[in-house]
Amino acid sequence: MENQMMQALVWLGPRDMVQRAEPMPKLAPGEVLISVGAVGICGSELSGFLGHNTLRVPPLIMGHEGAGQVVEVTGGTFATGEEATVGARVTFNPLVVCGTCDRCLSGRSNLCRLRQLVGAHRPGAFAQYVAVPARQCYLLPEHLSLVAGSLAEPLACSIRAVALSGVRPQERLLILGAGPIGLCAVAAARAQGVEQILVSDVVPQRLEIARHWGAHDVVNAREQDVVAFVQERYPGGADSVIDAVGATPVRTQAIRAVVPGGRVVFIGLHDEESVMPANYIIRQEIIVTGTFAYTDNDFAHAVDLLTHGIVQPSVDWLEERPLNDGPAAFAELVDGKTKAAKIVLIAATPNDGPGGLS
Ligand SMILES: [Zn+2]
Ligand SMILES: [Zn+2]
Repeated sequence: MENQMMQALVWLGPRDMVQRAEPMPKLAPGEVLISVGAVGICGSELSGFLGHNTLRVPPLIMGHEGAGQVVEVTGGTFATGEEATVGARVTFNPLVVCGTCDRCLSGRSNLCRLRQLVGAHRPGAFAQYVAVPARQCYLLPEHLSLVAGSLAEPLACSIRAVALSGVRPQERLLILGAGPIGLCAVAAARAQGVEQILVSDVVPQRLEIARHWGAHDVVNAREQDVVAFVQERYPGGADSVIDAVGATPVRTQAIRAVVPGGRVVFIGLHDEESVMPANYIIRQEIIVTGTFAYTDNDFAHAVDLLTHGIVQPSVDWLEERPLNDGPAAFAELVDGKTKAAKIVLIAATPNDGPGGLS
């Protein structure tokens, strides 16, 4: 497929994204070329779109939540152990790590010193085709749609957040923010037997979805004092809190709402810096931890939960749009004009040849 062109969404600078013809990715040894079927828009890419994210430098094809069909291979095996073959339906872990640095060897490959994110350090999946190392790919079972496969990445983030929260089945979990990561955290917590889950957000529709997904209580932070509400429902506080927003007032709520000795996990990346009630943290012995991305284990776990239908791409929270709607979808998402919690772009169908969609 050399010298051929494909359609891609290219981010050119703040609020500036176009669809245009781009050269097909070239494969290094051990890589596969994926005909992208579905690719989600991530919150981190919205800050990228606005130019607030130093990781992303224009011109850039973003897109790291992808799934599709393998159309070319240069050897290698998938993460799931099978030999890489043309025709395989896969999702991929977009965090490419070295496997040999001190962080990889200490079990924190998500913090690899040489990590590269597909869609940031190398061209991503907002395109008809994307190249990734075969070892990053996970075979999708027949019954799982490519849209469902594209949810493995955000779900893996949430799985790690829930794991780091240390919440146990009998305990009470508070999740602040019912965007895709907060919702996936509800699903991940439910999947491990946590039943008392309280979710806050400011959008009633999202709270409704959270309820659907198994939150036993929800609170609209625009209408009620979240910390007071939590104290009322969970006297003493929540045993663990996950902040999937990242705005300073919400980070403070997380700390005020947890029990003494409880664990607060920050995953939302809204404010670069926040003033924290440090003396309160000290006097309550609160454990505050960040969580970043996922390891291979978290990702494999996400694919497993999707396979078992724990998270489903239903229309109440997820909207599918054609790839060429991407620039409009980004603009609507950053302006808060969309109703859907998640937008997944539908790119080329596996039977489309290169250059389609134009
Ligand atoms: Zn993402
Ligand atoms: Zn490494």
